Amino acid sequence: LMHLTRKLIEIRSMLLSIDQSDALKLPSIVVVGSQSSGKSSVLETIVGHEFLPKGNNMVTRRPLELTLIHTPANDKHAAEYGEFPALGLGKITDFSQIQRTLTDLNLAVPSSECVSDEPIDLRIYSPNVPDLTLIDLPGYIQISSMDQPETLKDKIASLCEKYIREPNIILAVCAADVDLANSPALRASRAVDPLGLRTIGVITKMDLVPSDQGASILAGNRYPLHLGYVGVVAKAAKKTSHHDNTQEIVRRNEEEYFARHREVFRTGNLMVGTDTLRRRLMEVLESSMASSLHGITNAVQLELEEATYQFKVQYNDRRVTAESYVAETMDKLKARFAEHTQQFRRPIIRAKLKAMLDDKVMDVLEQLYWLDRRTPELNQLGQDPRKTADDVDPYWRHKLGAASSLLTKSGVGRDATLLVADGLRTLIDSIAASEPFNYHPRTAERLIEFSHAILRDRIGVTSDQVENCIKPYKYDVEVDEREWALGREQAVKLFENELAMCETKLKDIRKKVGGSRRLGGLIQYVKTLEEKEKERKMKRLEGLPAEDEMTPESYKYPPAQIHDARHALLYSDRLSVLKLRLAALKSKRCRAGPENDVFCPEAFLDVVADKLAYTSAMFINIELLDHFFYQFPREIDSRLLYDLDRREILEFARENPAVRRHLDLQERKDKLEEVMKQLNSLSTLRADPKPAASRR
Ligand code: GDP
Repeated sequence: LMHLTRKLIEIRSMLLSIDQSDALKLPSIVVVGSQSSGKSSVLETIVGHEFLPKGNNMVTRRPLELTLIHTPANDKHAAEYGEFPALGLGKITDFSQIQRTLTDLNLAVPSSECVSDEPIDLRIYSPNVPDLTLIDLPGYIQISSMDQPETLKDKIASLCEKYIREPNIILAVCAADVDLANSPALRASRAVDPLGLRTIGVITKMDLVPSDQGASILAGNRYPLHLGYVGVVAKAAKKTSHHDNTQEIVRRNEEEYFARHREVFRTGNLMVGTDTLRRRLMEVLESSMASSLHGITNAVQLELEEATYQFKVQYNDRRVTAESYVAETMDKLKARFAEHTQQFRRPIIRAKLKAMLDDKVMDVLEQLYWLDRRTPELNQLGQDPRKTADDVDPYWRHKLGAASSLLTKSGVGRDATLLVADGLRTLIDSIAASEPFNYHPRTAERLIEFSHAILRDRIGVTSDQVENCIKPYKYDVEVDEREWALGREQAVKLFENELAMCETKLKDIRKKVGGSRRLGGLIQYVKTLEEKEKERKMKRLEGLPAEDEMTPESYKYPPAQIHDARHALLYSDRLSVLKLRLAALKSKRCRAGPENDVFCPEAFLDVVADKLAYTSAMFINIELLDHFFYQFPREIDSRLLYDLDRREILEFARENPAVRRHLDLQERKDKLEEVMKQLNSLSTLRADPKPAASRR
């Protein structure tokens, strides 16, 4: 039978780790009693050590699940130790350290909460303890002190109620010097166990009442309990010397007391003394566990069947481990990244850079040609077949040089590098924001962090290198026939696009203000406004008095429409210069070849832009992309994968709700299987005819 309890205690802890539902609970002994009833003293005499937190201000704030495990007595002292499985502190042989740890754990509950229902798991291994499980609860408070809120009493009461439910055995601790009618422990027990079938009474402080009065309490005639009462004397003794074991003194004290009053207690055949209490508790727990065995086996069988079924249905029996999930996730990350590196192939990068440079070319053209009133002259010169490029005003040659240098010196190295780096950054950011990294915010953050760091590291070097390599173009750009033809074609395309865009804008404005007639009127009006503005400016410059600024005409159109008209005016000016230049680009002169560059700056600049894009793409590839593609997967391994310890791997996996559910169900099934195996082995154990091992 001995082995049975031990096994069942093990099974009980396993079941507790599976879930806290009542169906899967094996009985334990729950200790209840009001403050100062002597509860702690009783528990300590059972264990044989002082280990519970002391102090008068509510030290017990969390339930204590105390598991006592009897160890073989060959080495009596060395074998005594405690363990907090949840804390991973290892074996603690110093019981005062256990006491300190318990105090810390209890004090860690914020005083605003007062009590917590999260149990502390403590196991004590010793040759001097019986196999028992005991649950110590915060004591009932009778008087609410100033700093204890009224609700605390209720909170403790409901906590106790949760534990004193079936199948647990209630150990009701009452002091002999307090009327049992007033014992909150007995009152609580009666509420759930009115017949007293699973309550055992412990009467402490027997030494404080006359022995015959004590004996009559133990007889239990007033409040009969099926499991009876045990009387103890557990008065804490003062240490007389440093080496004294206080528990030893308590023990002797009790022995002496009951020896002195032997007659009284023997006649009633009453249970007295801590040894008797221990034995009684073991018997009660054993028989209670044995009678729960059948029920619990059925319950576990049902749960196991359900878990097995769910595991089959939901996961087709596929097992996962946190490790495999982490490894898979990292592989997926690398693969996802590799997929997208297609976007960074050289021709694609080159095209992107070219588009960026096209914008720059348009800006340069706008600044130097479109806003120049002499630009129509250039068209006329181009149409004159007798003129060669050398015949035209040096003004145009000079302008072309300025345009080319504005383009080549516009910070291409930095802009091109940043454009590509930004593309990489956006890619990483989007990977980090998508599944499964949305479940792993800290990992996503680290991923972003180190990717950005690699980029930051390379941006300076790369932009310098690119800038260096395009340097020759700042001085001279040679253009051959083929390049010219291509440049001209592309310039035509760009201009056609720009034209189309301006036309759309103009159309939109026309629609907005209410038709082309209306817009015509508006534009006319804006033009006169501008004329007047000019006149006024002139007069001011000449020192003449200006006429009244507010002409009644300014109320003719709403300001928003005047604003639109000004835009429309700009677009139509732009359209006419674009059309002019497009005609030039399509002319014989421009088709002829690169020697006509002065007449066709657009074609020339397009060729320059193309060369810049080509060179930039080549060096960005070497200095930025190759480095990044090499380093990125290695950083994933070193910063995300190998950096994790076992606990972090588990945490990581459980961050993903789907994986967490999978792991939970799998673990539940495994544990239930193990419990079932243990329960099955018990039935053979019970059939074992060999005598039980010696009992303490
Ligand atoms: P708890 O608050 O219920 O845990 O009670 P304690 O175990 O701390 O005991 C309260 C007080 O009662 C302490 O001062 C103990 O020394 C004292 N006490 C406990 N058991 C006995 C006993 O059997 N006899 C006497 N005289 N005092 C006891």
